[in-house]
Amino acid sequence: MSSGVYLHIPFCRSRCSYCDFAVDVYKNAAIVEDYVSALAAEIENFPTSHVVDTIYFGGGTPSLLTPAQLEKILKPIYKKFSVAENSEITMEMNPATVTLETLKAYKNLGVNRASFGAQTFDDAELKRLGRRHTAADVRETVELLRQADFVDVGFDLIAGLPRQTLKDWERNLDEALKLKPEHLSLYLLEIVEGTPLAAQIRSGRQPLPDEDLAAEMYEMMLEKVSADGYRQYEISNYALPNYESKHNSKYWTLSPVFGFGCSAHSFDGGNVRYSNERDAARYAALIEAGNSAIVDRETIDVASEAVFLGLRLAKGVDLEQYEAHFGINLIEKYAADFEHLKDSGLIEIAAGRLKLTRRGFLFSNEVFAVFV
Ligand code: SF4
Repeated sequence: MSSGVYLHIPFCRSRCSYCDFAVDVYKNAAIVEDYVSALAAEIENFPTSHVVDTIYFGGGTPSLLTPAQLEKILKPIYKKFSVAENSEITMEMNPATVTLETLKAYKNLGVNRASFGAQTFDDAELKRLGRRHTAADVRETVELLRQADFVDVGFDLIAGLPRQTLKDWERNLDEALKLKPEHLSLYLLEIVEGTPLAAQIRSGRQPLPDEDLAAEMYEMMLEKVSADGYRQYEISNYALPNYESKHNSKYWTLSPVFGFGCSAHSFDGGNVRYSNERDAARYAALIEAGNSAIVDRETIDVASEAVFLGLRLAKGVDLEQYEAHFGINLIEKYAADFEHLKDSGLIEIAAGRLKLTRRGFLFSNEVFAVFV
C-alpha cells in the first residue's frame, strides 16, 4: 500500500471569519523561510522510508511559498521517500495569490493538481467571510491555471452562508460549473466555536444559517453537479471521472499518510495516529532544537474507524470484505442501530454494501455517532 505525504503551510494573508485551522497571518518572508527550513529538517530526520504516490501541500495558503521554497521542501521528500512516477502532487492555493509565472514554476517542480477556495461568487459574501479575493479573482485563477497547463483543477464552495438564498446558491453553482473544474468540494457551512463568525452569529450581527434551506441547497447541488457529469465520491467531494483526489482518499481508506509541519496529522497505516505541535513558531523552535514536533499520539480503534470513514465514501462499506478483514459481522453487531437508521432513511444495505442514503449524507453525524 503506497503512502501519502502531507505538508502543512500555515501562512495566510489574513484569517477568514469562519476558519479554525492552524493558520498564522503572513508577516514577513523571514518567518516563512525559517518555517520552510524547519519543515525540510523534519522531513530529513524522518526515521523511515516509504513508497509514496501522493504529496499534498495544504494550509493555510501554500501558494504564498516561492518556487524556491517549494523546491526546498520537495528535495528532502524525494531523498527520504521513494516517490512513485506519476505521483499526484497537489497544492492548495488562494485566488489572488498566484501569477502565471509562479504557477508555471510550481508545475515545473512537479505540482500537477491545484485546489483552491472559491467559497462563493458573491463579492459581498466574500467580504463578509473575510476572504481577500473577489469572484473575478476566482475566474482569473482558473484561467491562469489552464494557461500554465494544469489539467486537474478543483475548488471549494460553501453552502448555507448567512443570508444566502436558494437562488444565490443556484447562481454560485452555475458560475462554478461554467469554469469546468475537474473537481469540486462543496461544503455546508460549519460554525466553529471560537471563530469570529461564531461570535457574530451569537451577537446577532449575522443570522444563523437555516437548516432546512441547507438541506434544499444540498439537494440542488447533487442534481446540478450530476447533470454536468460529476460523480459524488465522498460526502463533500465531486469529480469528473478519474479526477477523484487520490491523496484525500487515503484518509478515508485508512492508508498511511505522513504529515510534516505544524498541526500536521499522521497515520502509520497500522493503528497509530499522531499529530504535531499546532503553533508554527513553537513547531519551528522544537525542530530547530533537534526535538520531535509530535505532541500527541493515540492508538485508534481501526475496526470502527473503517466503518465511519468508509461510510463517507459513496461506495460505502463492503460487508463481506469487512468481515473477512476484521472478523466482525456488522449487520449482527449493529442490528438494532441499523434498523433505526434504516427507518430514519439514513442508511441502506444493498448488493452487500452498507451505504449512506442522500439524506444520510446530509445528516451523517447521526450515523457516525453509532460507531464512535
Ligand atoms: S484562506 Fe483558508 S486557511 Fe487561510 S484563513 Fe481563510 S479559510 Fe483559513
